[in-house]
Amino acid sequence: MTRSRITSTVDFEKNGKQTGFLRLPHSVHESAYGFIPIPIVSIKNGSGPTVLLNAGNHGDEYEGQVTLMKLVRELRPEQVQGRIIFTPAANFPAAIAGRRTSPIDAGNLNRSFPGDPDGTVTKQIAFYIEHELLKLADYALDLHSGGSSLLYVPSALGTLHPGDAKRNAETIELLRLFGAPIGYVSNQPMGADQTFTAAAHRQGVLAFGTEMAGGGTVTRSALRIAEQGVRRVLRHLGVVPDIKTEPSPGTRLMEIGGPDYFVYTSESGVFEPLVELGAEVKAGDPAAAIHFSHTPWREADVVRFERDGVVLCQRIPGRTERGDCLFHLGTDYRG
Ligand SMILES: [Zn+2]
Repeated sequence: MTRSRITSTVDFEKNGKQTGFLRLPHSVHESAYGFIPIPIVSIKNGSGPTVLLNAGNHGDEYEGQVTLMKLVRELRPEQVQGRIIFTPAANFPAAIAGRRTSPIDAGNLNRSFPGDPDGTVTKQIAFYIEHELLKLADYALDLHSGGSSLLYVPSALGTLHPGDAKRNAETIELLRLFGAPIGYVSNQPMGADQTFTAAAHRQGVLAFGTEMAGGGTVTRSALRIAEQGVRRVLRHLGVVPDIKTEPSPGTRLMEIGGPDYFVYTSESGVFEPLVELGAEVKAGDPAAAIHFSHTPWREADVVRFERDGVVLCQRIPGRTERGDCLFHLGTDYRG
């Protein structure tokens, strides 16, 4: 396999706190010998597992980015038993643009794994994360929020792998410990084998993620959930045994299944939500009205839920086009 062209200014084998950059060579009109500086931090001390904390996978999802930036500044090496590697702005071009995807190549990092060392900038970042960083890790957290187009009930989410009962049980234990209002599991994760968590699984790393609020902003309550959840996980894994945390308030364990959990718009128009986030709904209940700007006298089209469930996520922008997801549901986990 070809090696990544990215080099790290941080030596992951060295003890102490190191801050630096992953240098991704990027020769462009404005900077012939330039590189893209992806911030990276390693804190290593004593013996214990390696945890990779990733945020900014999508650049417009901020609670995870803020959580990691604050933690990087707070933690002292002597508090750590093992190693924590932080990538608070993993898709750095997307993060500084405040966009889901990279302005350089339109790449969605969380649909770019396993990546390509000779590919576009985003593919190169994915390749480095999967084949260099995850190779070092025992555990990984990938902190997302809803981003510009979605709003979530703050959730932690894990992927279950059929036939891997021990690992699935550990994933569920970590979701409960994280203590978001919802902890949901899926056998059919979004993006299937192209996501960070899929990459982690390929590398034998136990990983889970979050969906903290969204709407392209920082929500104070969701930030607090993310911060407390990450701290509890680091303490539980023994990597930062004395970190200050509050006890987990518990989580409502849910699952998302097939296509009937998702509601898509029927036509293009203005999206009027007819339910609140977090509502319990029944199959056949009205989900949204789609209004037609070109023919305002035309009756609005009502989109309905196809199954019972709890509304975990809704679309944010008012304009909608055919193909847009308006809502997705969860149902209580039946293990
Ligand atoms: Zn995301």
